[in-house]
Amino acid sequence: VADLLPDALDALHATFGFTAFRGVQEHVVSRVLAGQSTLAVMPTGAGKSLTYQLPAVMLEGTCVVVSPLIALMHDQLRSATANGIRAATLTSADTDREVTIDRFREGELDLLYVAPERASQPHFRELLSKARVSLFAIDEAHCVSEWGHDFRPDYRLLRPLLDAFPQVPRLALTATADHHTRADILAQLGIADDGLIVAGFDRPNIRYAIRPRENAARQLKTLLEENPGPGIIYAPTRARVEQLAETLAATGRRVLPYHAGLSPEIRARNQAAFVASEDMVMVATVAFGMGIDKPDVRFVAHAGIPKSIEGYYQETGRAGRDGDPSVAVMFWGADDFARARIRLSEVEERRQQSERQRLDSLAGLVETAQCRRAVLLRHFGEDPAPTCGNCDNCLEPPGVADMTELARKLLSA
Ligand code: ADP
Ligand code: MG
Ligand code: ZN
Repeated sequence: VADLLPDALDALHATFGFTAFRGVQEHVVSRVLAGQSTLAVMPTGAGKSLTYQLPAVMLEGTCVVVSPLIALMHDQLRSATANGIRAATLTSADTDREVTIDRFREGELDLLYVAPERASQPHFRELLSKARVSLFAIDEAHCVSEWGHDFRPDYRLLRPLLDAFPQVPRLALTATADHHTRADILAQLGIADDGLIVAGFDRPNIRYAIRPRENAARQLKTLLEENPGPGIIYAPTRARVEQLAETLAATGRRVLPYHAGLSPEIRARNQAAFVASEDMVMVATVAFGMGIDKPDVRFVAHAGIPKSIEGYYQETGRAGRDGDPSVAVMFWGADDFARARIRLSEVEERRQQSERQRLDSLAGLVETAQCRRAVLLRHFGEDPAPTCGNCDNCLEPPGVADMTELARKLLSA
């Protein structure tokens, strides 16, 4: 499974053209790839579909998706097919059911969408036993609960089907679930309580700060002194990782490097040491972090700009999964933006505009005098309070002189 995780990023890019996961997508996908049943509560538009479609492409066999409405299924089918995913629906409205069933049995489908009433029929169970099922995805999973706002009795009939294939992981998805409904979904679908992942993009225990880089090594040393707990420092290149790891190790703190240029054995060893440690610092490229379950990471630092706001959110999101106070600090330089703009000209033409937008959004986050959290959450389509009280701009509002200096730096980039 560990080998599947880097592959997930490749598959994400190859299948959907996305360069990063959003929010909890990474966490959900890594659980699914590890065969762990999960209930993901994610806001609408957060990208729930991808959390089963990507594993569906990566895993052997077919992902069976239960969805409550034919119209919804057909929308999903269209977008999946447009991405080159081998998908079909099996509903009373389909005239090519025999063809679909043959494709399914031959292992030629990544995704098979069915309505709950079909899924609960005995001959459907028989059909599944003759094919290979990689995953059960239950969309709009609140329909299984009488506590939810949209109870569908047919959803209750799914359980025997799921239980007939105990080795197949279950992924339940919903945007709307209060406490009662969540607990009920877990119980009704037979998912363990620790399989619950709730998105809501805000990570209130993370304190955000974004500062101009002056002397990265000195700034990072100060950060390490102020933060004795485990932390991750992201650096842009392998060479920079090695160099910073060496410099920072000289402070006496346990510091290890992690990047794709190290042998798999050393990477595995460094990662295991970090996960087990209560004070270690990992200096890493973005190759580090996906699927790593370490809840007590106390700080994440960027010694250079991330690729995008999504990347920033994903990387800083590795801090404080246990809910305890944690910090995310970015040390940026005008030269980072300059280099990123040069790289833009090397990107294929059809992707240039979207890549430029990503960079502009990131520059917006860096140069804002407003609450960082508010800018971040608005980027993800939320409607946050204007101030959070837990970011640099809220805690020490920048003066006009600071802003002029910032604008000068960014313009020179
Ligand atoms: P939900 O089911 O949570 O409402 P969808 O799966 O319909 O969300 O996805 C919402 C939109 O977000 C879609 O247009 C999808 O292509 C886009 N999206 C999903 N994941 C990503 C990602 N990692 N990067 C960029 N866009 C994404
Ligand atoms: Mg959806
Ligand atoms: Zn704030």
